Order: sequence, then structure tokens, then C-alpha cells
Amino acid sequence: MNRRAFLKQAAFFLSIANAPLVFAKPPDFIKNHLPSFDSHIKDRLIKNRLFDTDYNDDIFLEKKDMLLLEASLKRLKRVQKTVGYGNFCLLNFDDAVKISKSYTAVGAFSKQELAFLEMIFYSRVSEYGLMSEKPIKTITGKIVKKEVKKIPYTGHCLYRGRPIEVYKTIKKEVGNQVILTSGVRSVMKQFLLFLDKARKSQGNLSMASRSLAPPGYSFHGVGDFDVGKKGYGIHNFTKRFTKTDVYKKLTDLGYLKFRYERDNDLGVRFEPWHIEVV
Ligand SMILES: [Zn+2]
Repeated sequence: MNRRAFLKQAAFFLSIANAPLVFAKPPDFIKNHLPSFDSHIKDRLIKNRLFDTDYNDDIFLEKKDMLLLEASLKRLKRVQKTVGYGNFCLLNFDDAVKISKSYTAVGAFSKQELAFLEMIFYSRVSEYGLMSEKPIKTITGKIVKKEVKKIPYTGHCLYRGRPIEVYKTIKKEVGNQVILTSGVRSVMKQFLLFLDKARKSQGNLSMASRSLAPPGYSFHGVGDFDVGKKGYGIHNFTKRFTKTDVYKKLTDLGYLKFRYERDNDLGVRFEPWHIEVV
């Protein structure tokens, strides 16, 4: 189905669904009590709104892979601790493997762990329900250090050129309450975030990918970034962010685009903090 047809049916579905009331109910209630409709669209919209729950057709890791997930995730965290948070955001796969071999505090990735990471990177995510493009095609994709710049007091980097220009404009127009909450992320950083989410989701890869891009699929790797309100902590990554003055000012600017809009057809939750740059 093309995007226009999806959006047309989605708008109609939401109008009949009396969205705020219906979406406060559990998924099965919604399915059973709404008029019969294109089930594909109904499923997609329900999963977008109620992203943090299990569905019958979700894809789970096999039990044996859960152990590899735990081991790889712990090792990635040890690599991050060794190289530092800022450097880890730029660290590529080959260098991470070298570091793991050189530092006893990290310990070398086992063959099985490396095979597991490859399996995750090259999985067909459309099976999870994710319809996003894949801006980074190979697990060894590198960030060229000359192309990025550290943004003071944030612990994050941005790509030089348009991403930094967009960020500076936002700072200028929204004021000093707006902050960069996540910038450039390497494949390894995305692995750490995605595996952490998959662990918290009990191995439900579909659930994890509804709120966190699998490695290779994150546009943080090529220029997008997240912004938030100073001092708002983890609420910057929840829908509470839409209640802030910062969000209101961002939308008032009129020209910014959020990559994951409300009720998008990508299989990703609404992310009102993620600025689309590329
Ligand atoms: Zn983001």
C-alpha cells in the first residue's frame, strides 16, 4: 500500500475510533470493539500508540540467543566504560573488537557473540514490523571523525554542515531551555541501546524496534539528532515532552520535520523530540 493510501485510511480509522478514548483501552478491546476495517492499518496504528506491549505476531529472540544478548550487551557496556561515553558514540565495529581484545577489563568478544551481533545487524526487520530505510548498510560502517564536532556541555557530537546549522538555529530561536539530548551515534552505540531495549522487552525484537532503531537503521548515524528541555531528564523521551514550551516553540517554527510523526506508517512510535535532518 502506498503512503497516501495508508494515510487516508489511517485518518478515517482514527476519526471513527475516537482515538483518545479508544487508545486508553487494551489492544484486544480495541480490536474487538471497532468496526471491521483494514486489519493491517488497524494493527499498525494500535502498535504505534501502544508500542510497549507484546502482540501475537511479534518476533522474539530464541532462548539460546538471550544469553548471547546478555553477554554482548555487558561487553559493549564495558567497552563504553573503557573508551568513555563521548568516544563510544563514534566507535566503529572493528575498533570495538580490537579494544575488546586489548583490554582485560573488557575481554574479547567470543565468536558466538560476534555471530549474534551480525545476525542482529543483518536481520530482515520488516518481519519485526519496521518499515524504515537502512542508512548504514554494513556492520563495519565508520564515522569519519573530521566530519563531526563535539557540542560543549552535552556529551554529544553532531555532523558538521547542515546538522550543526539546524541545531544552532534551534538554539537561537527556541532559547537556552532547549538542549541536545542525543547526537551522532555509531553502529556500536546503536547496538548498545537496541540490545538494552531488547533485554528490557524480554527478547521481543518487534517491541524494541517500535521505540528504538536496530543498528544500521538509526538516522543518528547520518545526521539526525534529538532535542529536549533542560533539566527534564528521561521525560524528554516520553510524550510528556509535547507538553513543554520547548516542544511548542519547536513546532511553532513551522519548518522543522520530526522523522517519526504521530501515526506514521514506519512501524515506529511518535517521537516528538527527533529532528529529521537528512
Ligand atoms: Zn532520535
